Formats: sequence, C-alpha cells, structure tokens
Amino acid sequence: MAGFSNGNQAESFAKSPTIKFTKLFINGHFVDSISGKTFETIDPRTEQVIASIAEGTKEDVDLAVKAARHAFDFGPWPRLPGAERARIMMKWAEIVEENKEEIAALDAIDCGKLYHWCKDAEIPQAVAALRYYAGAADKVHGDVLKMSREFQAYTLLEPIGVVGHIIPWNFPTFMFFSKVAPSLAAGCTMVLKPAEQTPLSALFFAHLAKLAGIPDGVLNVVPGFGPTAGAALSSHMDIDAVSFTGSTEVGREVMKAAALSNLKPVSLELGGKSPLIIFDDAEIDKAAELAIAGIMFNKGEICVASSRVYVQEGIYDEFEKKLVEKAKAWVVGDPLDPNVQQGPQVDKKQFDKVISYIEHGKREGARLLTGGKRWGHKGYYIEPTIFANVNEDMLIAQDEIFGPVMSLMKFRTMEEAIGRANNTRYGLAAGIVTNNLNIANAMSRSIRAGTIWINCYLVFSLDCPYGGYKMSGFGRESGMEALHKYLQIKSVVTPIYNSPWL
Ligand code: NAD
Repeated sequence: MAGFSNGNQAESFAKSPTIKFTKLFINGHFVDSISGKTFETIDPRTEQVIASIAEGTKEDVDLAVKAARHAFDFGPWPRLPGAERARIMMKWAEIVEENKEEIAALDAIDCGKLYHWCKDAEIPQAVAALRYYAGAADKVHGDVLKMSREFQAYTLLEPIGVVGHIIPWNFPTFMFFSKVAPSLAAGCTMVLKPAEQTPLSALFFAHLAKLAGIPDGVLNVVPGFGPTAGAALSSHMDIDAVSFTGSTEVGREVMKAAALSNLKPVSLELGGKSPLIIFDDAEIDKAAELAIAGIMFNKGEICVASSRVYVQEGIYDEFEKKLVEKAKAWVVGDPLDPNVQQGPQVDKKQFDKVISYIEHGKREGARLLTGGKRWGHKGYYIEPTIFANVNEDMLIAQDEIFGPVMSLMKFRTMEEAIGRANNTRYGLAAGIVTNNLNIANAMSRSIRAGTIWINCYLVFSLDCPYGGYKMSGFGRESGMEALHKYLQIKSVVTPIYNSPWL
C-alpha cells in the first residue's frame, strides 16, 4: 500500500486534509464510541478543526480490554513462535515506511511538528524500533539454574499479559512504537490511548497493523481524555501492566489507580528540568548551538529539553552574546516549510501555559535576553525565549515549562555546578560540555539523572535505555530493558533423578 507519490502532496494535504480514520479501533475494526460522543482535534497552525474523533470512555475501554484479554488468553499472538511475530512486525515496519509522507503530514497538522523532520527522522526511528524489537522476538530465553539442593530449575520469560499504553502528544509516532514494538515482541496484547491532542497518526497505524497481519484484538487504539479513557485503563482489573509517558502529576494518578485496583506494575516516563553545563574550556560557538537546539528543538516540547543552561564565568559574557545571536536566527513558522526550525505549540492550553511562565519570569525579575511573546497573529507560535539572571528558586528554574524557554545561569566551580544541577525534583537527563576528562567523569557520576550526554545532547538510540531518576519516573524505554518490562519470570523446579520430592 503506497503513500503519497511526492512531497508536494504533503503540502496540499496539509491545506485541506482528508482524514481517513476517526473512529476507535477495537478488535480489528473501526467503531463509533458507545456514547456516540466525539471530540475535535485542532490544527495548531491555524486554530481550525481538522476532524471529529470518536471519544472513548470507560465503556469503550472495557470493550477494548475484553478484546485484548481474549486475544491474549485464546488467540494466536502470544503462542506464535517469536520468528513469526517478527515476520509480521517487519511487514508492518515496511508498510509504515511506505506511508511516511502521509504520517508526517498527519503529525505536522495535528501536533505542529516539522514535516521534514518527522519524515526523515522520527518515522524512520519508529520503523527502526519495530525492526529492532522484531529482531529480539525470537531471542527471549530464560536461564537454567543450578540449585543448592538436589533439584534443578529453569526460568521461563512469559509475556506479562494485556498492557495499557498511555502516551503524550509531543512525539505521537515514536511514542506509539516505542511502547507497542517491545510489548508486541514479548507476545503481549494491548490497548493504547493516544493523547487527546494527537489521535490521528495512532489510528492510521492501527489500520496499517491490520494490513500487516497483526491479529484482531492484539492492538486496540482508543482515543479519549485522560480522566475518563486514561483512568479507565490504569484502574482496569483486567489490564496486567501499564506503561505511561506523560507528566509527573498524572503519573502519580496512574500509579495510585494501579495500586488501588489490581496492583498492576507501572512504568512511568515523566517530566524533566534538565541542566546543560558548559565549562570554560568549551568551544563557545558549538556549545551555544547545542544549548539552542537542546531547548528549542520540537518547540521545547521534549521531556529532556535543556531548560537550565549553566555557563562557567570565564566564558559567560561571550557565550551569552553568541546564544542570543543564534536564538534570533532560529526560524519560526509553518512546520511544512523545510526552512523552518520551530512550529507552533501543540494547543491553546500549552500555549497559554508557556506564555504565563514567561510573564512569571519577567515579574520575578529575570532579565529577558530575547523573545518573550507570541510569534505572529494566528496559530500557537511562541518566540524562542531566553532569560538571564535567573535565581535557582524562581519558578522558571524549577518547573517544567515544556516550551521554547531557557534559563541561563552563571557558575564558578565544578562543585557548585553539581549542587545546582541536582537542585531539582526531576532527574531525566543532563549535558556536560568540556574537554577535561576528569571534569566529565566527576560530573557524570555526580548528577542524578537517567541519561548524561557529554559533548552532545539529544542523542537517542534504540540500543541505549533512557528513563528517569527521582520524580522523572522509573522503568526504561529502548534497549532490551524496554522488552523486559513486558515479560515476567516463571521458575520451574523439578527434582533430579532419585532425589527426595521435598
Ligand atoms: P499528561 O500527563 O497531561 O498526559 C499524558 C497522557 O496521559 C495523555 O494521553 C492523557 O490523556 C493521559 N492522562 C491524563 N490524565 C490521566 C489520568 N488521570 N489517568 C490516566 N491517563 C491520563 O502529559 P502531556 O501534557 O500529554 O505531555 C507532556 C508531559 O509528558 C511532560 O511533562 C513531559 O515531560 C512528559 N514526557 C515525558 C517523556 C519521557 O520519556 N520521560 C517523553 C515525553 C513527554
């Protein structure tokens, strides 16, 4: 099934989109919600409605879980040889790849993401995730154990069961596959709730999954709102595990619901307030580029955004000058335009939230170096914004803003930098820029965060697990760690010939 035949089609699609899939995907079919309710998904470039989407609530989640439960307890998927699951996943990867232009256009208009970046980076990375975990599907083995008494044992790694995936809106495609691919490889069945802001690509993927041969009931997609559809998943007695990515506040609710229902395990990929620490020996131009990309990439809507930038006093003044030049040259505009580096924030709520943090920063006495207001007159665009003279206790230095807003701060010693980098309730990532190996080593071991980037930033790879320390959550995405979230260990014990049974 081929997608767009050329790039121009994306632009005309974005001007007047035809949305093919707007209903819930349950048990292999697109269906209306039981209540008949729908909600509108909005184009953040124009503030116009793109489509009305069926709104899943508790009753729809119940149906989807029933389908996934049946597919797990009686269907072929968990019982297939791993190599056969891999074959179907590889087929799905191929079809997703063939449709990358249409998918990129859907995410661009639904989320305000850069069309070309989605097509050339996010979608290929999502396809690679499918292939990576397909490659692992037939390599899931337990161990043979030597027991201390006259018994022997082996472990079986079994799929955990029916999984509930709850994802945010900032990477609708990669988030979808980073959850679905390892859980499919493990042999699980699942219900996924996309974010209410970005349901379009998830429904398209469900359609492509069916074409690839994923059996009915294995993958169910139920768009809807958090407190209804999301909460119904995390509190469901027949969901065996929940994998959640989103805010720390909602992560806490998900964990509570899991504890108060069937004590299902949860993995939580939550918010961040990541520091980028630049030492005196850094090449200033390159470091400034890294700092800008670290916070402005994806319009600051990225959990690992380098929202706190600490610069050592020897290069601070020159660095500040370079940084402002680069922020002013950062191109904001329509995400379909290949020259644009920053599109609109995802929706009005996020736009208002970011603007209110900017106003807060101004009131708190931080010095506005550049930006600080809406960009243009239509759409949820915000100027790349940098504050200097930021104190550690200011709200803009403590809260996750999730927008293109940087706090720039000065430090003197390495010890001071460690203390200030760790002065946050979050612990998702950190960046260090220095050529001094001793400093790099000491810093990377002292900062309490799940990922440390040395002389680079935002470098992800499927091999490399990522996730949080502290209130950034627990559990890891990517790598074999993600696969193991969806497996459980069974020990089988048996006496050795002639040994006593007890
Ligand atoms: P959010 O927490 O508001 O929503 C995330 C998802 O949870 C959505 O699908 C939403 O509908 C659902 N939800 C909301 N209330 C719920 C409830 N009571 N029960 C169950 N589900 C519920 O987050 P968001 O605004 O969509 O995304 C931004 C946040 O996600 C940021 O804090 C960001 O740092 C975080 N994030 C983290 C990572 C990571 O890997 N650590 C990656 C991307 C985003």
